[in-house]
Amino acid sequence: MPHDHSDHSHGPDHPHTLLPPEPALRVRALETLLERKGLVDPAALDAIIDTYENRIGPRGGAQVVARAWTEPEFRAALLEDATAAVADMGLYGRQGEHIVAVENTGTVHNMVVCTLCSCYPWPLLGIPPGWYKSDAYRARAVREPRKVLAEFGVTLPRETAVRVWDSTAEVRYLVVPRRPEGAEGLDKEALAALVTRDSMIGCGLAVNP
Ligand code: FE
Repeated sequence: MPHDHSDHSHGPDHPHTLLPPEPALRVRALETLLERKGLVDPAALDAIIDTYENRIGPRGGAQVVARAWTEPEFRAALLEDATAAVADMGLYGRQGEHIVAVENTGTVHNMVVCTLCSCYPWPLLGIPPGWYKSDAYRARAVREPRKVLAEFGVTLPRETAVRVWDSTAEVRYLVVPRRPEGAEGLDKEALAALVTRDSMIGCGLAVNP
């Protein structure tokens, strides 16, 4: 059976049907279009992506956490106004204009999601992982956070409350994980190595030394 050309709702007159279905391909198509129109410079785009993927990454956030673990004054400043505290460490940039730090304790475990899209504190953690942007994580983190945490290998005591923070274009969250036992003698650099990306999203714990 040949294609029924009388069905104009799916015909070639409708530009959106020309877009490929996969999100990555759609993004590529949009990028090509913007480049052709001279609205974006491809070299600038590549530089931005390289910066956040390879040069920033989650190590900045790990240094912030290690400092919060070892310097009570910095910890207080971070919890009071994270944007200012991390800017003093040179960790200010786009997608990180308003950062809020939330600290895990024996009674509260914090977890971050963006239910709308994929808002994330880029200057501290780099580019978000694929799962953070997935429909499944965005829906389930709110509905069944404990189950999602279990799938990440995180099982919390029953008395620990789970608090889920929904990021927006305005506010990005950084989770300060609990400092593991037995890390007392370590310097800041060694402590930062215990802080995983996932622990700063709240989907993991800092690793034991
Ligand atoms: Fe978002």
